[in-house]
Amino acid sequence: MRVTDITMPSGITARPRDDRGYPVPAITPWEDGVPQFASTSMRRVFLCVEERRCTVCGREMQPGPVWRVVDGEDAEMISALLDIGKAYLNPAPTGEAPGHRTCMIYAAMVCPYLSSPEGRRGEASNMYGANIPKGDARGVGGGIVAYNDYGFEQTQVGPGVVYGKPVEIISYNRAEDLRDELAASIAADETVIGKAPNWLGEDEQLTEAAFRRAMLSPAERQALEAKKRATQVRKRQQKQARASRKKNR
Ligand SMILES: [Zn+2]
Repeated sequence: MRVTDITMPSGITARPRDDRGYPVPAITPWEDGVPQFASTSMRRVFLCVEERRCTVCGREMQPGPVWRVVDGEDAEMISALLDIGKAYLNPAPTGEAPGHRTCMIYAAMVCPYLSSPEGRRGEASNMYGANIPKGDARGVGGGIVAYNDYGFEQTQVGPGVVYGKPVEIISYNRAEDLRDELAASIAADETVIGKAPNWLGEDEQLTEAAFRRAMLSPAERQALEAKKRATQVRKRQQKQARASRKKNR
């Protein structure tokens, strides 16, 4: 299955492209105008989680379950437990944040690492943030899992994304297996709503500034807002003063 034959969700069509024309996920950092597919920006991950944005397209996710791609071992475990109506809770934090159902199905189909059992993680194969050591093959099976909840947390083993209960799984082995799921999802494309902020684009300085803003305490944020308002008032006064000087000339 060729990547160009796979329909792109609306939110992903709006992403910036690399020089081959591939859309760049929201959590991929940029360096000198070049997307760094081999790494994931934890700042971008954090910001996406804080604003409930999809880590692929960067647009907001509606209330309800959120989706992520898991490997075969996790997929098998989750699917077995869902079958018998038991919850599988994994309190371990991960660097992988969720996205829209449509975006995650698309990612599982186009990412060279996620789309087949032989797929190896290489330079460009880390496109959607699956944390597997370079060179390892994905292995048999995989799943796109819906979770009822998630959040960015400070845990004893470090900060990361912690997920709630899995509520649904779409199991697959190869990209082709997801063809119908993608078509159905695109028919009701939830990614048409909203817009990704410019700080999830190619300018890392904007990302950095957004991260610093997000790190402010409520008091610091208030002080910053007050300063901004004061500057606006001063500018308005200066403008009025200039206008009246002109009139009196
Ligand atoms: Zn999305």
